[in-house]
Amino acid sequence: MSELKPCPFCGSSQLSLISMSDGWMIACFSCSKIVQIPMAKTDAIEAWNTRPNDAKWISVEDELPKHMEHVVLRNVNKWFSFIDDNVTHTGCLVEMLGRRHWSVNGVKGAQLMNEFTHWMPLPNPPGVK
Ligand SMILES: [Zn+2]
Repeated sequence: MSELKPCPFCGSSQLSLISMSDGWMIACFSCSKIVQIPMAKTDAIEAWNTRPNDAKWISVEDELPKHMEHVVLRNVNKWFSFIDDNVTHTGCLVEMLGRRHWSVNGVKGAQLMNEFTHWMPLPNPPGVK
């Protein structure tokens, strides 16, 4: 079933699209996850293939978010950091008087630029494509 993207839980392409009385069911042979989609076949395939996880992490070395754009932030290096690097944060890059820092939601104060290694755009709110 090459029209289906790999399983979002395990990455396997061993998927089965099964017709149900009230829609379709997509089952993963590898991790046994089952997703039921009460829709026509083409809509079910589109729903399966559309995922917030399509957003990709961007390295801060490649690109930085725009000034004051709220994004998802993560530190994958295990250096000492002021904020918890085992947690994914949200916040924005602030550029003031030629200097940059991170403003992190729920964390007081300006964070140094090396607090984060990666960022990605926030997903759309529910119901917004
Ligand atoms: Zn799977």
